[in-house]
Amino acid sequence: MALTTCMECKAQISSKAKACPQCGKPRSTFLTELGCVVLVLLALGAWFLYSCLKEAAAF
Ligand SMILES: [Zn+2]
Repeated sequence: MALTTCMECKAQISSKAKACPQCGKPRSTFLTELGCVVLVLLALGAWFLYSCLKEAAAF
């Protein structure tokens, strides 16, 4: 089991723990933040594609 350091209280917590057992702060890793950004970009991309297709269909 890998250990990681809590960004908030610097406690050693399991890398599988979703939140720090010491301070209760949810582990927000770079990857989870990246996942959020990717989701937003995907949503924006889908919307952009949809509006493009809608315009193309109008002609
Ligand atoms: Zn903590």
